[in-house]
Amino acid sequence: MTTPDAPALPLRPELADEVPYGAPQLDVPVRLNVNENPYAPSDDVVATIAEHVAHAARGLNRYPDRDFDALRDDLAQYLAVESGVHLHRSQLWAANGSNEVMLHLLQAFGGPGRTAVSFAPTYSMYPEYARDTHTRWVTGRRAEDFTIDTAEAVGLVETERPSVILLASPNNPTGTALDLTTIRAVLDAAARIPAVVVVDEAYAEFRRAGTPSALELLDRYPHLAVTRTMSKAFAAAGLRLGYLAASTELVDALRVVRLPYHLSAVTQATARAALSHRDSLLAQVADLRAGRDDLVGWLRAQRVDGRPLQVADSDANFVLFGTFDDRHAVWQGLLDRGVLIRETGPEGWLRVSVGTPGETQAFKDALTDVIGEK
Ligand code: PMP
Repeated sequence: MTTPDAPALPLRPELADEVPYGAPQLDVPVRLNVNENPYAPSDDVVATIAEHVAHAARGLNRYPDRDFDALRDDLAQYLAVESGVHLHRSQLWAANGSNEVMLHLLQAFGGPGRTAVSFAPTYSMYPEYARDTHTRWVTGRRAEDFTIDTAEAVGLVETERPSVILLASPNNPTGTALDLTTIRAVLDAAARIPAVVVVDEAYAEFRRAGTPSALELLDRYPHLAVTRTMSKAFAAAGLRLGYLAASTELVDALRVVRLPYHLSAVTQATARAALSHRDSLLAQVADLRAGRDDLVGWLRAQRVDGRPLQVADSDANFVLFGTFDDRHAVWQGLLDRGVLIRETGPEGWLRVSVGTPGETQAFKDALTDVIGEK
């Protein structure tokens, strides 16, 4: 409690009006608001995790493996299977969610007097990493279809001369994947500054057939970092395990800024246990991708006020749709019917995560109802 003579807190002035980041965590029947995987781990996965964690618990008096070599080997092996790209453990990095991985990137490569660039609309945590590392934050605009115009992107990089460029692909909240031509052009422009290019592939496993991963570019670009996460495809958002693939030189820079023992023994054990169930966990990704494509088709067939809904192409496990004159009313109407989605993205748009078939049906029923009322 504040007493009249209590000293004011010396809060950094730029934080004075800031609020903590995060979507509402409401207890409603259908939660499709934060792009989680709707499938809880199976009994098999839970049993393996329990076994690995019990083993780790016996050594909890000791600090964990600071360099988490075994986990880095497992992550390298996973990426080899998933993307056909073979990496050494020294090219892998991990932290508590890809959020923390990206904070490490800004801590190592951003900072006072430096600039980070991205292209909006995009993931709303990026400006927070910049703020928290005293890095100047600059955004270019994505095109009408939410892709990035290559010439414009290169122009912005050349004008602003950032030290970090953040490209989300597939992008949140739009679901848009970038083609490698754009990423290559940005990498070439970045090499001349020099800048680090971060391709945030949090949703990579949901990409449509034929969409490549930026992992394929790693052997030619030592200033490229590709971030991934176990939060989405691995159905392990509660685990908090994000990771990154890059050159050894880039990873070594991140090792300097991390806190010692930042990845707990329990986290390392749980992540390794989940990775050992790669095949069954990823089998659900195919179902979610099919569910996403169905949902995009269904939404495109809906009409509001005589106009068809606009729906962004999606390579992720969510879909951005609109536009609504009063998107908040639509969001609230859905919530009143027990379906929580996200009021985010450009004005008039809403984002829904792909759920189980039952959850997606509940969303469709609720939306039909809400639109019908208008
Ligand atoms: N990048 C993007 C584009 C995201 O949407 C998210 C989570 N919503 C993250 C990174 C962070 O994920 P996590 O910290 O759970 O790995």
